[in-house]
Amino acid sequence: MTNHNVAAEKARQAAGAWTMISVYRGFQSGDSVARGIRAGRIVAYRPAGAFEAYAAMHDDGTAVWARCVDGILDISSMPQTLTVRVPDYGTPRGYGGVRITTVEISSKCQRCGGPRGPLTVHHFVKDDTRLVCDRWVNACGHPDEYSVVLTEAQRRMDLAGVPRPKGPEIKGVEGGQFTVPVDFIALALKTKPWMRARAVAKLLEDLGHVQAAEVICTFAESNVTGYQTSAKAAALYLIERDMGRPASEAWADGQIGYEADVIAETPGGEK
Ligand SMILES: [Zn+2]
Repeated sequence: MTNHNVAAEKARQAAGAWTMISVYRGFQSGDSVARGIRAGRIVAYRPAGAFEAYAAMHDDGTAVWARCVDGILDISSMPQTLTVRVPDYGTPRGYGGVRITTVEISSKCQRCGGPRGPLTVHHFVKDDTRLVCDRWVNACGHPDEYSVVLTEAQRRMDLAGVPRPKGPEIKGVEGGQFTVPVDFIALALKTKPWMRARAVAKLLEDLGHVQAAEVICTFAESNVTGYQTSAKAAALYLIERDMGRPASEAWADGQIGYEADVIAETPGGEK
């Protein structure tokens, strides 16, 4: 049983800040307590309107969070969602390096339901390009990782029925070493989208693109998918090579707040 006298007193002392009241098994009971707090139906939180409260997902069920707003005039209301700019390092292969994606996520920590943030603007440099993303530290102490944030945002879009964008375009890099082979693969994929890397390497070899064929074979052998490696993956690999990004570059997906360290620790080869 929750001791609401103790919980309310704690929240009153931290007036203006969100504090966790308790965790409940089911959403119904948590939601009912949150309503009771707001309406003053639970005596400890009277008068009605002295507290704001909500129920949110917690690792162990549903957490109820409340904040005392009694006598506080300039308090901003808690938004349902946050719009954040997040670095997206793509798949482990890191096609295209990093790009900043703006996504919508819950305003609450996904572990305990506590409020996320506040957001701060973070500038960093990658591949000689200045980038801006958002950082935040959750008061509850649960760190958010960018990769997990992106997954959450994707899940929200899936639930909302937003169609997923198509994969990266297969197009030779202008002036690149493998421009012609990549465009050839792109053409081949139009009629045979499931073509494998080895099959396309053979075709390229027959056409005289021996080096591209060799690079693809080496890539397919070292790739985790091995023999199953697709021609599309091979083309993306050739594009990466032409863009001067060593494919062995494994991008650590660091915790938010440590991005600068991750970048600083990445040895050379980022030109
Ligand atoms: Zn948390």
